[in-house]
Amino acid sequence: MKHNFGAGPCILPQEVFKQAADSVLDFNGLSILEVSHRHKDFVAVMDEAIDLVKKALNVPSGYSVCYLQGGATLGFTIVALNMMREKKRAGYINTGTWASGAIKEAKKVGIDVNVFASSEDRNFTYIPKDYIIPNDVDYIHFTSNNTIYGTQFKTFPKTNLPLICDMSSDIFSKEINVGDFDIIYAGAQKNLGPAGATLYIVKDEVLGKSSSTFMPTYLDLKQQIEKESMLNTPPVFSVYVAMLNLRNLIETGGVSAMQAKNEGKANLLYEEIDRNTLFRGCVETEDRSNMNVTFLLNDESKAQQFDSLWKNAGIVGLPGHRSVGGYRASIYNALPLSSVQVLVEVMKEFERTN
Ligand SMILES: *Cc1c(COP(=O)(O)O)cnc(C)c1O
Repeated sequence: MKHNFGAGPCILPQEVFKQAADSVLDFNGLSILEVSHRHKDFVAVMDEAIDLVKKALNVPSGYSVCYLQGGATLGFTIVALNMMREKKRAGYINTGTWASGAIKEAKKVGIDVNVFASSEDRNFTYIPKDYIIPNDVDYIHFTSNNTIYGTQFKTFPKTNLPLICDMSSDIFSKEINVGDFDIIYAGAQKNLGPAGATLYIVKDEVLGKSSSTFMPTYLDLKQQIEKESMLNTPPVFSVYVAMLNLRNLIETGGVSAMQAKNEGKANLLYEEIDRNTLFRGCVETEDRSNMNVTFLLNDESKAQQFDSLWKNAGIVGLPGHRSVGGYRASIYNALPLSSVQVLVEVMKEFERTN
């Protein structure tokens, strides 16, 4: 088996792949790919997929969960449309490519965006901290983990305004207090399941209050939640595999156990990046992501040699995003510690031969 450090779509637990494969051939006598989304067997899957999110994250009462399509990218539009109030103004934190994407889409639906904090001045290598949250806005939006640059919020913005978060690349990786948020959204394909489904966790009291005159049915979270994610055909297979993955997460100790495992993996890799004289990390130490570890070679001319070493060790998905260069080891929930150990061994071996 390869060691998959890809950023997304990415690794899921092997047991989940196996169960999913079995259900492609036999899900109560049909293939999961041919079953009607209105059949009670799939309705039970959807119900369980929703319940398991609530269980895994201790979602308080007064919140609803739904699965839509369109990825986090459509989420940028959906949250802006649904959270728009009379002011039609919102505060955004810009920590990189995805945060910038969210800002762009909010502007497109007519929101006057106040980017009150940004790390663009140093190419998104840190998480802004000394900012003043504006109060003349409808809501605040941020991106908890910066998948491309490798930074992560360790504490979340504190505000009484509605707080919206794109958690695509670190949801279920650590404990969070859902009660602090009004909407959390996440594309499935990092820690949840295969691409196709997008998860929304929504505080019920924000629903149906948009001031937007443009509100297509599909984008209206109120209607989606009332229809229990079945307003139209949901991404059946993606939801099914997300459900299997959440079962697996809970069986293996839940989010708190996962957090400990993830910290162990991240510490191991960052220690090697700091110890090994041939490498350096890309971002501020205190803002380092436990999901996407970005690092550079001190001597770029040695790239070919390092690349052949990790490729020979069965590692895939390690090159950094084209906007950053270097390397990015995505060490999502399902990546085993043993894969990180293989990468660390390769880095040590590279040092020995230099
Ligand atoms: C991957 C990612 C996205 C984009 O997700 P899509 O589902 O492809 O639209 C958005 N935000 C973050 C933080 C991501 O990691």
